Amino acid sequence: MYVQLSQRLKDVAIYVPKGAKLLDVGSDHAYLPIYLLEKGLITSAIAGEVVKGPYESALANVSAYDFNDKIEVRLANGLAAFEPADDVTTITICGMGGRLIADILDAGKDKLKDVDRLILQPNNREDDLRIWLMENGFTIVAEAIMTENGKYYEILVAEAGHMSLSDKEVRFGPHLMKDQSQVFQLKWQREINKLEIALGSIPLANQDDRAVIEEKIQTIKEVLDHDS
Ligand code: SAM
Repeated sequence: MYVQLSQRLKDVAIYVPKGAKLLDVGSDHAYLPIYLLEKGLITSAIAGEVVKGPYESALANVSAYDFNDKIEVRLANGLAAFEPADDVTTITICGMGGRLIADILDAGKDKLKDVDRLILQPNNREDDLRIWLMENGFTIVAEAIMTENGKYYEILVAEAGHMSLSDKEVRFGPHLMKDQSQVFQLKWQREINKLEIALGSIPLANQDDRAVIEEKIQTIKEVLDHDS
């Protein structure tokens, strides 16, 4: 019996180093650690969950897939799910808002110095998360963008190091901007379309409000035209 994993989480799995000791924060059904163990990609995992219902479904799945000896499910808030003695090497935090992910990291940042890699998949406010990483001694080593069920998802892979991001890089992602993938272009073209619709409903006389939206559109166009 193989676990059915969303393409979004499969894309996250690509960045988990082979042999990692994983902590998955907000593990819900524990699908990501189960998938990684089935593929032989990690040695063991902690599945952390703060809410009782998802914690119980994680427990049930770990038993159903017979991984009780490899995955420990812990009822805990954020990074309280692990201690230095657990030797966690990689942390995944996926499917939450970017601010919540940044808050979770911030609340346990002292514990992050022994962790090799963070793999973060915010559902929104990617800019807040990039700022947190930049201000807290992390550098983004890779980024990915994908689309599933009509939504766009970004994946940020961070390791200890220094980075200095421009305002544009904070918003659009330093690697994503360079790569200019088709999905990236579609995401931001959709944002332009939304802004143009908003602009259409603002009276011509309302110059200040129009200027704000026009500037946002212009910035996106500059980023999309970057390499053309
Ligand atoms: N990570 C899975 C995914 O990407 O599909 C589940 C995403 S689900 C939308 C978010 C999960 O994170 C929920 O199960 C929620 O209870 C959990 N969560 C939210 N805040 C948390 C925190 N501070 N610590 C641990 N888990 C948290």
